[in-house]
Amino acid sequence: MLVAAQQPMTAACARRPASQSAPGRRAGAPAQVGRVAAAAAPARSRAAVRAQAEATKTSKAADLAAEVERLKAENDALRAALAGYQHCGPAEVTLAAPAAAGEEGAAAAAAAAPAKPAVSLAQQIEEGIQWPSPEEGSFWERPPRAAPLPLAPPPGAAGAAQRDPRSVQVVHITAEMAPHAKVGGLGDVVTGLAKACLARGHNVEIMLPYYECLPNDAIEDLRHERDFDCPKGKTWDGVFQAGNLRTQVYTGKIEGCPVILIRPDWNESNLFRGGRIYGGSYNEAEAYLYFSRACLEYLRQSGRQPDVVHVHEWQASAVPMLFWDAPARFSQDFWDAPARFSQDMPRTRVVMTIHNFDSSGECRQDEFSATGVSGELYSTIDKALDERTIGHNPERLCLLKGGIVYSNAVTTVSPNYANETLNGGAAGWLKSTLATPGVAVKYSGVLNGIDTDFWDPTHDPFLPACYSPQQQEGKALCKRFLQMGLGMTVDPDKPLVAVISRLVPQKGIHLIEHAVHRTIELGGQFVVLGTGHADSGLRNLAGGQYRDNPDVQMRFMYSEALAHQIYAAADMLLVPSMFEPCGLTQMIALRYGTVPVVRSTGGLADTVKDVDNYQGNDMQPNGYVFDGIDAGSLNSALDRAIAAYKGHPKEWAALRGRIMADAARWSWDVAAGSYVDLYNKVLSI
Ligand code: ADP
Repeated sequence: MLVAAQQPMTAACARRPASQSAPGRRAGAPAQVGRVAAAAAPARSRAAVRAQAEATKTSKAADLAAEVERLKAENDALRAALAGYQHCGPAEVTLAAPAAAGEEGAAAAAAAAPAKPAVSLAQQIEEGIQWPSPEEGSFWERPPRAAPLPLAPPPGAAGAAQRDPRSVQVVHITAEMAPHAKVGGLGDVVTGLAKACLARGHNVEIMLPYYECLPNDAIEDLRHERDFDCPKGKTWDGVFQAGNLRTQVYTGKIEGCPVILIRPDWNESNLFRGGRIYGGSYNEAEAYLYFSRACLEYLRQSGRQPDVVHVHEWQASAVPMLFWDAPARFSQDFWDAPARFSQDMPRTRVVMTIHNFDSSGECRQDEFSATGVSGELYSTIDKALDERTIGHNPERLCLLKGGIVYSNAVTTVSPNYANETLNGGAAGWLKSTLATPGVAVKYSGVLNGIDTDFWDPTHDPFLPACYSPQQQEGKALCKRFLQMGLGMTVDPDKPLVAVISRLVPQKGIHLIEHAVHRTIELGGQFVVLGTGHADSGLRNLAGGQYRDNPDVQMRFMYSEALAHQIYAAADMLLVPSMFEPCGLTQMIALRYGTVPVVRSTGGLADTVKDVDNYQGNDMQPNGYVFDGIDAGSLNSALDRAIAAYKGHPKEWAALRGRIMADAARWSWDVAAGSYVDLYNKVLSI
C-alpha cells in the first residue's frame, strides 16, 4: 500500500510539462546570483568595480553557455523518450520535479545540480510492476500491483448518473449475475443494468439461484431470510402429481446490488449443486422451472409488490406465464394460495429481455410440472406450444415463446438484432410469434451497455498499469506484461490480436482459426481466451502447428482477471460472430482502447463503424468491419487493421485515444434510461 500511496504523487509531479516548470526556475537562477554578489560588495575603487563587472560578465556568459548545453541534452533525452512511446499516443514525457521548494530555491538547485535524465511517466509506473514469467503459471491470479494509479477517470465513469424523478421498484429474475455467477453477457447485463438503475434512484433487487459454486465470502451481508415450501409437481404416467420442495432464501449484496438467493434444501434435491453455473448433474429445465415458481412464491409470501418484474432468457420465462395464468383449479386442489400471482400483485407488470434467441428453452409438458402447474395449460398455439412439434408425441412447449406471449413488454439487446429477428432469420421459427399483432407492438431492441465502473482502464485493479485516453503509456506496459506472462515474444511493435469469447459455433470459430494463421502471416501475435464445446479446432492449432510459436497463445479457460489483462494488452479484438445479439466484448475493447475488428451482424453492426468506409454521421468510426462469413471477408478487415497499426502509428494512437474518450456512449446509464422509460410505459398500461 505504501508504494501505491506514494506513486500517484510522484506521477502527478512528474506530469507537469517541462516547458512550464524547469525553464522558469532556470531563468531565475543567474539573476539571484548577481543580486547576492552586489549586495555583499563593500565600497571599492572604480577600477576594482570595473574588474568586478568584467568578471561577472564572463561568469554570466559561462553560465549561459552551460545552460544552453544542458537544455540541448534535455531536449535529446525528451526526443528519445518520445520515440520509445510513439505507439502510446500523446506521451507526456517530463522531467522529474525537484522536491517541493520555493521557486527561488528550486531555481538555485536546478542551476547548481547536474542535468537530470528525463524520466517518462511510463518509466515511473513501470517501477511498481512485478513482472511475470511463464514459469509463474497463472500470473493473472495475483494482483499485479498493490493498487492502480488513480488517473483521471475517462468520460462515462460511474457517478455521473442523473436521478430519475420517479423511483421504480424492479425485481430481476435471472440465471446469471456478474461477476460471481457469470458465464457470458447475460451476467454482465443484469449487474450493469441493476447498478445503473440503482444509481438513478430506483429500487432494484436481483433474484438468482443460490448456486453451490457461488463464493459465499463474495456476498456482502449474507443472511438466511426464510424457508418455505415451494409447490413443485411431477407428471407420472400422464398424471400430474403435486408436491412441495422445501426452499431456502438468503439475502445479501453483490457489487452493491441487493440479491435474493433461492435454493432448494439440498437434503431433498440436488438442483443448482456442482462446481459450475450450468451443466450440473441435474435437469436444467426442471431447475429453472422450479426457480421461476420459487421466485414468485417468495414475492407473494414476503408481501412484495414490485412495480416491475424483469425476467431474462428462457430460464425465467415461466415467470410471466405463471404470473398471469397459474390456474385456479390447481390451487384449489393443493394449496391455500390464491390462484394467480397477478391478483396478489395487482400493480406489477412483467418485462422480459431476450439476450439470445438461440436458446429457446424447449420442454415437455410433463417437465413443466416442476412449476407446480401442469404444462397442459400452456399447450396451445396462442400460448407456449412449440409449433414445430404439432402432431408429435408428445408435443412440446417453448418457454421463450411463453415468456414473449405473457410479458407486458419484450426487449432484445440491440436495435439491429431486433430488426434481424423480425425481418431476417435470427429468431428462427419464433419470427411468427414476434409478428403476431399483440406481440409486435410490445417488442423492441434496447442496446446493452457496459459497466463502465467495472471496465475502467483508469482504475482496473486487474491491470499492471492503468491508463486513460490522455495518459496511454500504461497500455504498452500491459502489453509487455501479457507478452512476458504468456511467454510470447516481447515486442511493442507486433500487433497483438485477441479473442475473448465463448467458443461456440455462433462466435465464428472457423474465422477465428483462420485469423490465427493470417495474423501470424502478417507479422502479428494472437491470443485466445475462451471456453466452449466448439474449441477442438483451436485446441489442435494450439497443441500442434503453433505449439512452440512465441506469437500464439491460447488459454481454454474462464478467467475474469486474464480477460481484463487481455483487453488492456491487445491492440485489436476480433469478434467474427455468425450472429451476435449485442456483444459486449467489442464495447469493452473500445473502452480499453483496443480496436475492434468485427463481422457486421446484430449489435456488432450497431456499435462498430468502419474507419475506412463508414458514411453516416451518427457516430465516429471506431473499428474495422467485414460482412461475409468466409476467410476473404475477414482478411478484408484484419489486413487493413494490421496495416494501419504497422504503417501509421500516429493515426493508430489517435484512433485509440478517440475510441477510449468516446466510451461514455457505451455506459449502462444510457441504456438504463431506455429501460426506465419502458418500465414507466408498462406501468401506465
Ligand atoms: P455472450 O453473452 O454471447 O457470451 P458477450 O460478448 O455478450 O457474449 O459477453 C461475453 C462476456 O463474457 C464478456 O464480458 C467477456 O469478457 C466474457 N467472457 C467470455 N469468455 C470469457 C472467458 N473465457 N474468460 C473470461 N471472460 C469471458
